[in-house]
Amino acid sequence: FSTAVALEEQPIVPLVQVNHTQLLINGQFVEAASGKTFPTLDPRTGEVIAHVAEGDVEDIDRAVAAARKAFDEGPWPRMSAYERSRIMYRFADLLEKHSDELAALEVWDNGKTYEQAAKAELPMVARLFRYYAGWPDKIHGLTAPADGPHHVQILHEPIGVAGQIIPWNFPLLMFAWKVGPALACGNTIVLKTAEQTPLSALYAAKLFHEAGLPDGVLNVVSGFGPTAGAALASHMEVDKLAFTGSTDTGKIVLGLASKSNLKPVTLELGGKSPFIICEDADIDEAVEVAHFALFFNQGQCCCAGSRTYVHERVYDEFVAKAKERARRRVVGDPFKQGVEQGPQIDSEQYEKILKYIKHGIEAGANLEIGGERFGQKGFYIQPTVFSDVQDDMVIAKEEIFGPVQSILKFKDYNEVIKRANSTRYGLAAGVFTKNIDTANTMMRALKAGTVWINCFDVFDAAIPFGGYKMSGQGREKDNKSLAVFSTYKLLVYV
Ligand code: NAD
Repeated sequence: FSTAVALEEQPIVPLVQVNHTQLLINGQFVEAASGKTFPTLDPRTGEVIAHVAEGDVEDIDRAVAAARKAFDEGPWPRMSAYERSRIMYRFADLLEKHSDELAALEVWDNGKTYEQAAKAELPMVARLFRYYAGWPDKIHGLTAPADGPHHVQILHEPIGVAGQIIPWNFPLLMFAWKVGPALACGNTIVLKTAEQTPLSALYAAKLFHEAGLPDGVLNVVSGFGPTAGAALASHMEVDKLAFTGSTDTGKIVLGLASKSNLKPVTLELGGKSPFIICEDADIDEAVEVAHFALFFNQGQCCCAGSRTYVHERVYDEFVAKAKERARRRVVGDPFKQGVEQGPQIDSEQYEKILKYIKHGIEAGANLEIGGERFGQKGFYIQPTVFSDVQDDMVIAKEEIFGPVQSILKFKDYNEVIKRANSTRYGLAAGVFTKNIDTANTMMRALKAGTVWINCFDVFDAAIPFGGYKMSGQGREKDNKSLAVFSTYKLLVYV
């Protein structure tokens, strides 16, 4: 493995201070009602970065009460659409102004590379807020051509208090996907961050208040899933729930929503996305994109191309080159320039990934490279490639969420489409081919929310995202998100 960056060196101390560790409720930073805190850790070392207020049922109650008041009495839904828009634009400007600190905080808490956070994610977060800042004064109602003398108007209204629960793999991006559209529509929010990465959302929410967001409109509660998360999902005063996380937790929150007040729920869940390399593909390019599709963000992506199907005619060449590319992957301190892969998020994920690797070896997959921890401390794992993976192996069926590429061989297109679709997931898929007929056939046949042809992980504020089957319900980003954070009132007169 590339040791361009030696882990033995002292990790770089980030140029950022942790200033916000309390809950943000009604525009104020406050301690948890219980007074409890929990540590958030640096994945590079396992050391504590800060102790963060641990929100629970009582804090969710306080936050929901503030959001309720801000919605029912406060200025936000009644403020002119233009003014809401201006505040959101100002926030996007502040995000850019503070993007170095925000990126550093994200890297410190999450372990993703600074280059990725600063050059790709922060610009995307600002872009998302600008995209949604453009919407408030363009959300129109409709009239309907009813029979008879009736005149029908359809008003587009905010839904109310939005509960939002996000994961740790892209803390600020997930914050943006959820908060941007909900605010554009005029809702108020209680957001629960992931317990592994509470820091960047608190900082961002503080900046939103600096931009002029009224108190109570955006409340951020740090805390754990079964306590704070469950309290939010089952709260009677929450009008809408938007969740991103694992499929198993998605089932739980859907149950909690239905058992409480039947709040509508959107779910962005897990995946096991196929990436199909056809015989006519440019193999060097396909190797690089397939590598990126899997290893990006330490493999911690819901849509990771985690089943790489390669046509038998190009299989041997592809495997050799994929192995070589993994060998060249630069692993190390994510703050250092040139590093492509940092540590996994925490010891739980780290152990889980190593267990999956063991499963792969025991099941008879061919370990081409990697398979072990990297370095002596922190949660680093070697870039790992398995070839000769079979569909019924655990590593081909379950979400590993780590830097482990599984390569499978196929003979013909009908067969590979069937195999690619035989999963409970349907988040994304990729195809590499130069043949437009093959691309068209695959695009239509693959049961996935997004199909990327000759590319992967292409995201944009204006491209909706979401899953088929057990990868989720509903779509986010683009104007699809506006629909999920809105409700419609019919006015009928004669
Ligand atoms: P997770 O389901 O464990 O946690 C996600 C969030 O849910 C966290 O905030 C957590 O505290 C909360 N939570 C946990 N238990 C809860 C409960 N009982 N009630 C309410 N909330 C609860 O998932 P994770 O490990 O943080 O994230 C990884 C998963 O998220 C992967 O499966 C990944 O595929 C998925 N993901 C999906 C998308 C997407 O857009 N589809 C994006 C990112 C991540």
